[in-house]
Amino acid sequence: MVRPRGGIDLGGTKIQAVVVDGDSSVLGQARHPTPTSGGPAEVAAAMAAALREAAAAAALEPQALAGVGVGSPGAIDADAGTVSGARNLHGWTGTFALAATLAEQLGTPVALGNDVQVATDAEVALGAGRGARSLLGVFWGTGVGGGIVLDGKPWLGRGAAGEIGHMVVKRDGRRCPCGRRGCMEAYAGRAAMEARARERHAGGHKTALFKLMEHHGRTRLTSGIWARALEHGDQLATELIDEAVAALGAGIASAVNLLDCEVVVIGGGLGVRFGEPYVERIRAAMLPHLFVDERPPDVRLAALGDLGGAIGAALLAR
Ligand SMILES: [Zn+2]
Repeated sequence: MVRPRGGIDLGGTKIQAVVVDGDSSVLGQARHPTPTSGGPAEVAAAMAAALREAAAAAALEPQALAGVGVGSPGAIDADAGTVSGARNLHGWTGTFALAATLAEQLGTPVALGNDVQVATDAEVALGAGRGARSLLGVFWGTGVGGGIVLDGKPWLGRGAAGEIGHMVVKRDGRRCPCGRRGCMEAYAGRAAMEARARERHAGGHKTALFKLMEHHGRTRLTSGIWARALEHGDQLATELIDEAVAALGAGIASAVNLLDCEVVVIGGGLGVRFGEPYVERIRAAMLPHLFVDERPPDVRLAALGDLGGAIGAALLAR
């Protein structure tokens, strides 16, 4: 029997842990908020706690796992087991030995990978991209991440490939959280959209977004808050989401013009929340920008949903 494996998806707001069997079926899962103080050591402790909880839900001890894989933001050195410059995590500016720290706390080997790439690899191995030789994964959430598979293999470039969120869709355009201007993420990323909404709201523009946020006990405009505001026909939310879809269409189509991949998978918090109707909208928004428009790629919704990153991370532990 193949021993169960663990997977942890380390995000800017949440840590998702799973324990899966040999077929990658989920046996147990747990979700913890990502600590916003205490730096990498605190984050590692929360990751270990989430994994222990997922293992307990599967009636297992972490030591019984064949290993644990981690999908992390920042620059990953898989051989050294380190993560550097994970800027969306608190206090993570230097290099931290995440694999060794977690391995000691969990009593099982730990392997690291890039968060977006492992989610893409999971869709190729188990989800919407099964059978595709070339694929682009687009994870539409707080930011917009991308993962690339070419000729059946992940394409990491020199370690920083796939940053589709920073494709320029408008020269000298809106300010992006990365500090540059006109990136796709400046229009489509949830963080950028929230900043824009706050600016417009402060300028006197009416919107239900922040009332909904408070009503649901949130401090941020989550994917669910955006979805509710759209259901209410909120004008500002509709306008910002329309801009996001247009930016995604232009940016993804530009990437497809370069790579000519067979499949595009749309995932991420907003992508999964909005689902198939928005995959259809993105497909339509891409079309005018596709150079070879009589043969568009297959644009599909991520099949593994919210757990894709963690399930993909568990693949690293094989
Ligand atoms: Zn940018």
